[in-house]
Amino acid sequence: MEQTLSIIKPDAVAKGVIGKILDRFESNGLRIAAMKKVQLSRKDAQEFYAVHKERPFFNDLVDFMISGPVVVSVLEGENAVAKNRELMGATNPKEAEPGTIRADFAENIDANAVHGSDSLENAKKEIAFFFSQREIS
Ligand code: ATP
Ligand code: MG
Repeated sequence: MEQTLSIIKPDAVAKGVIGKILDRFESNGLRIAAMKKVQLSRKDAQEFYAVHKERPFFNDLVDFMISGPVVVSVLEGENAVAKNRELMGATNPKEAEPGTIRADFAENIDANAVHGSDSLENAKKEIAFFFSQREIS
């Protein structure tokens, strides 16, 4: 059993598709072990995406992630990290497989509806960034 971190990004929250996205997880064997809606501060977003701080899109990414509330959840299931990435689709929604979350709900590479941890190691760090042990069950 693995756990991974999912973020429903500000574009998808603003569009009113939180429920539709959560349904993709629950209908595909990922259980919601923890969940909350949060408005990230600039410092939160900079810290969360620190791996990208040298990339040219870093400031735009941070601005976007704080542009409205996000829904953060811990997803649990067999191969949860890879399973969630598969359900999300490619980073650029134009390249995402039909039927994936990004193909169905994302506008462009900046506003791409969801985040998902990219490895088990990062999943552990990202879960600890948002949740205490008592919030996960
Ligand atoms: P995420 O980490 O949000 O789940 P990802 O793992 O598919 O997405 P990353 O390479 O980690 O993609 O990039 C993080 C985020 O930065 C992307 O979701 C996207 O919004 C933005 N991003 C990535 N590459 C670009 C790019 N070339 N131009 C603009 N924004 C980008
Ligand atoms: Mg990533």
